[in-house]
Amino acid sequence: KGNDGKFTVTLIEGDGIGPEISQSVKDIFSAAGAPIKWEPVDVTPVLKDGKTVIPDEAIESVTKNYVALKGPLATPIGKGHVSLNLTLRRTFNLFANVRPCKSIAGYKTPYDNVDTVLIRENTEGEYSGIEHVVIDGVVQSIKLITREASERVLRFAFQYAEDIGRSKVRAVHKATIMKMSDGLFLSTARKISQDYPNIEFDAELLDNTCLKMVTDPTPYNDKVLVMPNLYGDILSDMCAGLIGGLGLTPSGNIGDECSIFEAVHGSAPDIAGKGLANPTALLLSSIMMLQHMGLHDYADKIQTAIFKVLAEGKTITGDLGGKAKTHEYASAVIKAMK
Ligand code: NAD
Repeated sequence: KGNDGKFTVTLIEGDGIGPEISQSVKDIFSAAGAPIKWEPVDVTPVLKDGKTVIPDEAIESVTKNYVALKGPLATPIGKGHVSLNLTLRRTFNLFANVRPCKSIAGYKTPYDNVDTVLIRENTEGEYSGIEHVVIDGVVQSIKLITREASERVLRFAFQYAEDIGRSKVRAVHKATIMKMSDGLFLSTARKISQDYPNIEFDAELLDNTCLKMVTDPTPYNDKVLVMPNLYGDILSDMCAGLIGGLGLTPSGNIGDECSIFEAVHGSAPDIAGKGLANPTALLLSSIMMLQHMGLHDYADKIQTAIFKVLAEGKTITGDLGGKAKTHEYASAVIKAMK
């Protein structure tokens, strides 16, 4: 917090629609009087000792401010490009990915009362990047599960459940098949659960969770789900589908010291620069950020206005079936706050 009473937050506007949706966040935050000073940084990779890395200034900014809001980053497909998103996660050891999915009044989907909270282990599992060719035509990929990383994300999940007032934590796994790796995750979960006597703990097989979730998601509304990396990646997109898709889903990447909040969607190159993007997912991510910083009043104020505009359905963007431009939607949210 600076002398002006404002908290400095690193802003990575990102690629494609990133700058447009970031502008909406900046406009709405300033209209709400939120005590945030944005520090924009460029994360375009630079060449250092023959490797492409994130510029030092960007790393220093996040390290100094502890909190960042990030737009989508385009990952070029092909050899030699390390995903910038993965690099950011590794650089700041962002071990837990928090993904809430809550139905939005006014946007009709098959279920009206979805309210899931999913926490994904963010550093290992199938994403350890250890792959090799055994012989031509045979490839081996290593799924890495450690007690340390499992403990860290599980402890966070129990703590998070307490913080948001949910009484149950459920580990999602496949320990029937991956007896050792998922088995370790599951046994660690059982052990950690003993430190949280007020939270009820149980476990469920991933395939069963998928089936039940799309049949009736409401039994998940009182739980926090926690799981290894790949399962979380897939299941959280499924949850996003239940509430209306990528334009509406926020996320937080939580680390020991720093946290980076971002929309789940990508840079949407097909609509970039046209003023068509829906900034809601990034806005809801920025609200998670405010809650993380303890600025609940501002979070509530902005969130109420967003939900009001979406429920009215008059000024919504094309992905939700409306005709509004990005800035028109942002103006409607600002008006709804008054
Ligand atoms: P995408 O999420 O960018 O787009 C998928 C579809 O959803 C497109 O039709 C797009 O127009 C639409 N869409 C996405 N966000 C929207 C929004 N806010 N408002 C309205 N419509 C929206 O996925 P993609 O096309 O597979 O990926 C494009 C690029 O983004 C790739 O380079 C990919 O690597 C990158 N990406 C980055 C992140 C991240 O930074 N976290 C996540 C996913 C993809």
